[in-house]
Amino acid sequence: MGFFDSRRVTIAGGTAVLAIGLATGGLATGGLATGGLAAGGGGGGGGGYGNGPGHGHDHGDRGRGHGTARNVILMVGDGLSIAARDATRLATVGQGNLLAMDSLEYAGWTHTESADPDEAVTDSAASATAFATGVRTYNGAIGVDLAGNPVPTLLEAARDLRKATGLVTTSQVTDATPASFGAHVADRGDQTEIARQYIEETRPDVILGGGEDWWYPVGDPGFYEDDPADPRPEVSMSTIGNLVEQAEATGYDYVSTPEELAATDADRILGLFANEEMFEQAPEGQGDEYAPVVSLSTMTQKALDVLSQDRRGFFLLVEEEAIDEMAHANNAGRTIQAGQALDETVALVHEFASRNRGTLVVVVGDHETGGLTVENVDPDDESGDPDSTSEDVLQSLEDGPFDIAGSDLQFTVDWTTPGHSGAATPLTAEGPGAERLARAQHSTNVHDVILDAMRGRR
Ligand SMILES: [Zn+2]
Repeated sequence: MGFFDSRRVTIAGGTAVLAIGLATGGLATGGLATGGLAAGGGGGGGGGYGNGPGHGHDHGDRGRGHGTARNVILMVGDGLSIAARDATRLATVGQGNLLAMDSLEYAGWTHTESADPDEAVTDSAASATAFATGVRTYNGAIGVDLAGNPVPTLLEAARDLRKATGLVTTSQVTDATPASFGAHVADRGDQTEIARQYIEETRPDVILGGGEDWWYPVGDPGFYEDDPADPRPEVSMSTIGNLVEQAEATGYDYVSTPEELAATDADRILGLFANEEMFEQAPEGQGDEYAPVVSLSTMTQKALDVLSQDRRGFFLLVEEEAIDEMAHANNAGRTIQAGQALDETVALVHEFASRNRGTLVVVVGDHETGGLTVENVDPDDESGDPDSTSEDVLQSLEDGPFDIAGSDLQFTVDWTTPGHSGAATPLTAEGPGAERLARAQHSTNVHDVILDAMRGRR
């Protein structure tokens, strides 16, 4: 599986860049966060969140976190809660062991609430906008504040520093999370306008994921055939012409198959590998599928190959969307599968970071989805009716049992909602500035820390 490869102490350029030193069997909490989980360092900041500089920690010669972040790789597990991470961990590496995403040097958590006037719990748009811009906004907002005004994003800041930039996702490339880094629109549903802004305004060097329906005009199916019979109909719907052709005319190499992606040596790539998401969101056995045409790790590797050619470094956003969407369907098996795909990708990113000094890696969840909980297998602890299709009964269904890797034990996953919950989400990080993320914080602090790290401020 290769999940443990990233823990090797690696020497690059004469500098020991990776020394996590977690024994494979060791789950000591001290090892989870050598920077400390204490919410110390720097108070201040408005809005009830201390977003001040996290100085005051003394990390001794653990100094590889210091300096400027030449490269930033922000990895979002959409809907990735602590329990979803743990269910993935138990099913993948078992008790006493850690996923690659849990093996980064620093850990903290983020409170994710948006500033929505009507809803207590965030959506992916407001949450991604908080990470991207440092501003809390209303649900559905893409890179705009409460008044609807555009707010600069981390991707734009990287571009202004003349870094290369990239967006990689298993969702539509114009979906809420990547969009919040590369566009400014009042409504997350305006995905054709988001695509237009990518190619005409923000111009990420690498754009890889699904969602070609938003790039092709009505009546032109594009590479992936329209599927109007799908429970969530898949038909081309650009209202402003053929945006793929427009992207090509402005210098993007357009690819739509794994072979074309592997073959291109362009330094500006638009890759669209599905009509909509690169998976099928559904409850178990009702058409659910997680089998992206190109895996998240393959797309990410290609992005790293391209972006790392840039002399000034890069900013790359990587998102695994199926964790959220499968949790909306209360489909624990697929949620875990998507978590594994994210973790494989974290392992390769961590390996890249160990060979490329000055790379900040941050793994976050944008909100919790489903109220997912890990429980004992207990036939008496279940009030749901597995044969019911009523939504309120669905909410109490359990999934499993799932095997715990390397053990005879099993666990059950229980759900409380088909929507998002307001639980805080876990964060792990490593590289320049990462020590400032080892605390309780709002998502906006992640923006502030990444921006400072890219600019060489502490
Ligand atoms: Zn969601």
